[in-house]
Amino acid sequence: MEHKDFIRFLGANGARTKSKGATCIQITDRMVIDGGNLIYGLGEKMLEVDTIFLTHAHLDHVCDIPFLADEVISNNKNQITIYAHPAVIRILQEHLFNNLIWPDFSRIRLPHSEKSVIRYEAIEPGRSYEMEGYTLTPVKTEHTEGSCGYVIKKGGAGIFVTADTYCCDAIWEELNADEEIHTLCIDVSFPSRFEKLAYESKHLTPRLLSSELEKLRRDDVRVCLMHLKPSVGSEVALEAREYGILREDGIILQDNDIIYFEKNERINNVKEY
Ligand SMILES: [Zn+2]
Ligand SMILES: [Zn+2]
Repeated sequence: MEHKDFIRFLGANGARTKSKGATCIQITDRMVIDGGNLIYGLGEKMLEVDTIFLTHAHLDHVCDIPFLADEVISNNKNQITIYAHPAVIRILQEHLFNNLIWPDFSRIRLPHSEKSVIRYEAIEPGRSYEMEGYTLTPVKTEHTEGSCGYVIKKGGAGIFVTADTYCCDAIWEELNADEEIHTLCIDVSFPSRFEKLAYESKHLTPRLLSSELEKLRRDDVRVCLMHLKPSVGSEVALEAREYGILREDGIILQDNDIIYFEKNERINNVKEY
C-alpha cells in the first residue's frame, strides 16, 4: 500500500478525563506537538519521542512530559529536545522543572551520556524548522505569553494547528497568504453562553469562531475543531453545526483521529463527536 503522510491527534481535548486525552499531536514516531497525552496515546512507544514542539506551557499541553523525562533515564533513551517560545521555556524552568514540582532535567545527565535528559531550544514565530522531512512554522496566537500554533507542511501541503487561541488576526492572515494550507484545526473550548469565561481564559466559542471566520478570504479551507472541554463537548458540537463552522468536511477532532497531508483525503475520524 502506498504510504500517505499524516498527523495523528493522540489527544484532541481541552482537558483529561478517563476517556479523553489532552492536547498531543504526533507527527512522526519521534516528534510531537504538545505532550498532553503521550502515555495513553503511545504506551511503550512514548520512549521513542525525543522532539517536542510546544504551543504553550499550560498543564493540559505538558502534563505527560515530566513522566517521559523520568522514563527516559531508567530506559536509557535519547535526550529530549523541547522546542518552545522563550517565554514558554522560562515558564517551564521556573514553574515545572524547578526542583520543587519536578527535577530540573536540563541539569541531570543521561546515565551513559554527557547529555542532559532535557534540552531547551528557543523558537522564533515566523521562522521555519525542518525536521525529518517536515517543516514546522510557529505562528503567534492570542492565548498566553509566548503561545504559538504551528503550520506543519509535507510535500507542499499544509495543516495548521492553532491549539489554544482567542480571536487572532495572525491566524487568518497566515491562511489567506498561504494556499498550501488546506486544513485548520482550531480551539473551540466552550459553548457560546460561556463567552465571558472564553474571553477571560482566551479561548474561542462557536459564535466567536463564526465571526472570526469572516476574516478568511478562502472557501477551500477545511475547518476542524479541537480542544473542546469534555464536560461541555456535546453542547459545543451541537452549536458548531448550528453556526456552520465545520467547513469543507471539517470535523470535531477526537483522540486518534488522523489528518492526511494529501489535499482531498478524508480525515480518519474514530467516530462522530
Ligand atoms: Zn489547553
Ligand atoms: Zn492553554
